[in-house]
Amino acid sequence: MEWESPVSGVCRCPGEAAHTTPTGARSCRIHLDGAPTLFCFHASCGEVIAAVNKRLRRELGRGEWVLRLPSGAVVRSGDVLQRDGAVKRREVIQGERRARSDAPYHADERIILESLRVAAERMRADMAAAFCWPHAQIVEDSPLLVSHRGAEEQFRLWLQLWPAGATVWIGDVFSSGKPEHKGHFRPVEEWAGIGPVMGNFTCGSSFKPGSYQRSNENCNGTRFLVVESDTLTRDEIGAVFAWLNLRLRFNLHCIIDTAGKSLHGWFDAPQSGVLGSRLKVVLTVFGCDPKLFTFSQPVRVPGALRNGKMQRLVWCREGAR
Ligand SMILES: [Zn+2]
Repeated sequence: MEWESPVSGVCRCPGEAAHTTPTGARSCRIHLDGAPTLFCFHASCGEVIAAVNKRLRRELGRGEWVLRLPSGAVVRSGDVLQRDGAVKRREVIQGERRARSDAPYHADERIILESLRVAAERMRADMAAAFCWPHAQIVEDSPLLVSHRGAEEQFRLWLQLWPAGATVWIGDVFSSGKPEHKGHFRPVEEWAGIGPVMGNFTCGSSFKPGSYQRSNENCNGTRFLVVESDTLTRDEIGAVFAWLNLRLRFNLHCIIDTAGKSLHGWFDAPQSGVLGSRLKVVLTVFGCDPKLFTFSQPVRVPGALRNGKMQRLVWCREGAR
């Protein structure tokens, strides 16, 4: 391996034989900060990489060892190397672990979250090049050509992404909380007959029938993960969408132009709370809004007008119900 910093370097990918596109000199890297990790920008070697990482961590977790790095730093088993090359001593880590033993996560999960945060910060700079997906390309790549369609059609196509009978909230931010707001919670089939006229917002979750409050307790478990950012531009956030869809294999259902500055991506929701909190750490580093993990959070509905501009689908999957 060729060292590039006190804690990382490039190496030959152990799964190089599986690459389906040319292998660059810098496609495979090893990072020793956080949880030591090998990673490669090719997806086709994923299985080999996963096996190597498992073995690397198993070997490092076994028994006592001491390593001297090229920087001169000495790392012992249980120490954690920081991004700047400093070594966090195992005694310090154990002390912190004891001090936080009342926190909601198991100590191991906290280490995973911290390592993910470090890994995501490292990856952030390379995301735009590795998963480049600008706005114009998103429109062109859509399986259903949607962005030119009218308001009613936009709205109905989006309704078809929901399971039959799902109770969906549509309204303005305050159309919730009182019995008179029941009319904002309706099955998708009823909404199809009404059209995009009851408000600019919806939620990524459906609700229990009869709900009149948009709260997490009233969500019925059917949900999308709606990815948004206040800081990334339309051309930047596409890389996050592509990474989620292609690398993490969260199915992408649609992308909505909010008629403001941003795009919203609708994905499968994480299958567990643990996965959700891990994803939250990474997406927050990438510049996404952590509020998106509150499933009753209002988001823009396609077909509605915002200051005279239409909130519209720019990408939509095929095979809607
Ligand atoms: Zn590779």
